[in-house]
Amino acid sequence: MKVAFVGLGIMGKPMAKNLLKAGHELKVFDIVAANMAEITAAGATAGASASDAASGAEVTITMLPDGPDVEAAVLGPGGVLEGAMPGSIVVDMSSISPLAAQKVGRACAAKGVHFLDAPVSGGEPKAIDGSLAIMAGGSKDVFDQVSPLFQAMGSSYVLTGPVGAGNVTKLANQIMVALNIAAMGEALVLATKAGLDPEVVFNAVKGGLAGSTVLNAKAPLAIARNFQPGFRIRLHQKDLRNALLAAESLKVPLPLTSTVQQILMALMNSGRGDLDHSAIVTFIEDMAQTQIQKQA
Ligand code: NAD
Repeated sequence: MKVAFVGLGIMGKPMAKNLLKAGHELKVFDIVAANMAEITAAGATAGASASDAASGAEVTITMLPDGPDVEAAVLGPGGVLEGAMPGSIVVDMSSISPLAAQKVGRACAAKGVHFLDAPVSGGEPKAIDGSLAIMAGGSKDVFDQVSPLFQAMGSSYVLTGPVGAGNVTKLANQIMVALNIAAMGEALVLATKAGLDPEVVFNAVKGGLAGSTVLNAKAPLAIARNFQPGFRIRLHQKDLRNALLAAESLKVPLPLTSTVQQILMALMNSGRGDLDHSAIVTFIEDMAQTQIQKQA
């Protein structure tokens, strides 16, 4: 397929590479020109703008930080909708508010362009090996048309409802991930302060009911004191903020999500916003004056 890809950051770059590997023709754009170098070296064409990348594409994929970035890149001057052909498809794979996804979807529809919201889970490692979990919202017909692209980037792709549903599903995912990391932090800080080796505790519990994909991915990072992103604290704070906004509009109290969102904000204020979200544990460590590592 002829594909445009806008947003070549931690996630966008490997996702675009997997589309190239699967034989799709790619034209790319990122506001930071240097972010395009690696992918053009791998065979993609550089676009002069989002609009230029999208002109002539059957499908335009966006992978940007948040809703305002997606609105700027799709609806703004020089944006995707200035170039996209009627009948073509825009797939936003960023994690944004469901309301923003619906707004962009309506603007696309007004120009005869189809729209799907299709955020992902799995992080950089799964983006690299093409095994992301993709959760989409939109019409079944459009979903089926872009399935070959999803297949190149993900190991699972599920249509969860109409436009916006993909991001509601993603917010649910992000709540579970953030609260899991916070719980892991409290548990391992307690065990460490009690004099135990956190690695031994991790190995003892990982096969039981407390075991999880989050625990397996993040406990070794915390124990190794490796907080390189990965998935940045500031992006997870954005996701929980979007979850709380959606929850408020539906009158759903989310007391635990709210607490972890406050922790993420505090971490951003202390200069930790660009660390991996596994650094949530450092907030709990600071309160206990104990780091999750084998004590001397
Ligand atoms: P990132 O900050 O690494 O990349 C975003 C890219 O978008 C950057 O290269 C930036 O220059 C570019 N950009 C911003 N505004 C633009 C515009 N108007 N036009 C063109 N390019 C623009 O972020 P990321 O980690 O790749 O995350 C992207 C999205 O995927 C976010 O919504 C995030 O929440 C979600 N996500 C990230 C991960 C992860 O582990 N990193 C996992 C799942 C989902």
